[in-house]
Amino acid sequence: MFRVARASQVVLLAVVACLGTGSLSRGDTVRDAIEREAKSIEARMIAWRRDIHQNPELGNREVRTAALVAEHLKRLGYEVREKVAHTGVVAVLKGGKPGPVIALRADMDALPVTEQVDLPFASKVKAMWGGQMVGVMHACGHDAHVAILMAAAEIFAKLRDELPGTVKLIFQPAEEGLPAGEEGGARMMLKEGAFQNPRPEAVFGLHVSAVGRVGTIGYRAGARSAGADTFKITVKGKQTHGARPWAGVDPIVIASQIVLGLQTIQSRQVDVTSDPSVLTVGIFKAGNRTNIIPDEAELEGTLRTYNLQMRDFIKRRVKETAEAIARSGGGEAVVVWNDDYVIPLINNVALTQRMLPTLRRVAGSDKVFEMPRAATYDDFSFFAQEVPGFYFNIGVAPADVAPTMVAPNHSPRFRLDETGLLTGLRALVNVSFDYLSGNAK
Ligand SMILES: [Zn+2]
Ligand SMILES: [Zn+2]
Repeated sequence: MFRVARASQVVLLAVVACLGTGSLSRGDTVRDAIEREAKSIEARMIAWRRDIHQNPELGNREVRTAALVAEHLKRLGYEVREKVAHTGVVAVLKGGKPGPVIALRADMDALPVTEQVDLPFASKVKAMWGGQMVGVMHACGHDAHVAILMAAAEIFAKLRDELPGTVKLIFQPAEEGLPAGEEGGARMMLKEGAFQNPRPEAVFGLHVSAVGRVGTIGYRAGARSAGADTFKITVKGKQTHGARPWAGVDPIVIASQIVLGLQTIQSRQVDVTSDPSVLTVGIFKAGNRTNIIPDEAELEGTLRTYNLQMRDFIKRRVKETAEAIARSGGGEAVVVWNDDYVIPLINNVALTQRMLPTLRRVAGSDKVFEMPRAATYDDFSFFAQEVPGFYFNIGVAPADVAPTMVAPNHSPRFRLDETGLLTGLRALVNVSFDYLSGNAK
């Protein structure tokens, strides 16, 4: 804390008292200091996680969590912006050395799941969701993400003199999807300027995962998790008597042909060697009597893709296929792609390769694994579309549970091994310092 020698001694001494002695001592490297600080904050990080776990909040309702985060960041000297995309917090800390700007993201929301884990800090919270009273639980581990990024924030502040660049911390609401009719999440944060003033040149994020054993880190270069789109097709026919189909236009027969026609897009028109994709019609609604051919039929479905070009292609072909089939039967199809989409999460390949040595150094080479694509989605994808992004997984499967018995993320029995939080913190802070200093060896 050599800044103490300068003006405003009283204020700076107060900062020293608050932050402790974070600067480097003689013979100490930044990496040594990170290890020391991470270890010393671990117990408080776990306490934050338990507090947030016991007080979970649904998407766009993360008021208490956001206040906790904002207060912590302000105390550390961050420039803090609140209420971004409803409850989001964006905070900036400029380091003592020149360097680039990076963003780190943690999602804050919990799920409408009733906790079934026997822990002293298990959630008893209930809230309204979709017009129903539901249990609320951090069943995806976002409580851990918030606690890890709060701890990382404190390490950046303590080692600020050594920080070669600027960190922008993004605490995001509503990753898990939105309450009906509401806007939010990563897309809305970007719309509200989360990546402006200053704009980061890279973005990093992590997710705790019950798939990985505690102490391990999973990564994947390129397509990491699926994009999810939903659609609705309204097939318009002409109502008539069920015994006199020639007097009308049967939307049920047309819609049936559309369901089959859509399945030929993947199987006949897409290069299966590039990326997988799935198109499912999950809702087919039409008619109310056996002897009436109705006016309309409705189809709804979902599309999962791992590639933006393929996503655009399939979306276009769904529209063309449905419209052409409907025309061939004398009817009309109206295709609507809903606005609640998430694009595929693509990890920048060069950035992933660049940061791998850091992850291997942090966890040990034998603990860092390449992962298969995930069929789940994460709207971190929107941040990673703006600038090169790298999102990795931190294993939190409890060591005392057989791998086949581990409750997955989103399960009411999801229980994470808290020792994984330290791995996550060390990974995130080391990735940040290594990227900013241009030294990832
Ligand atoms: Zn989730
Ligand atoms: Zn999640």
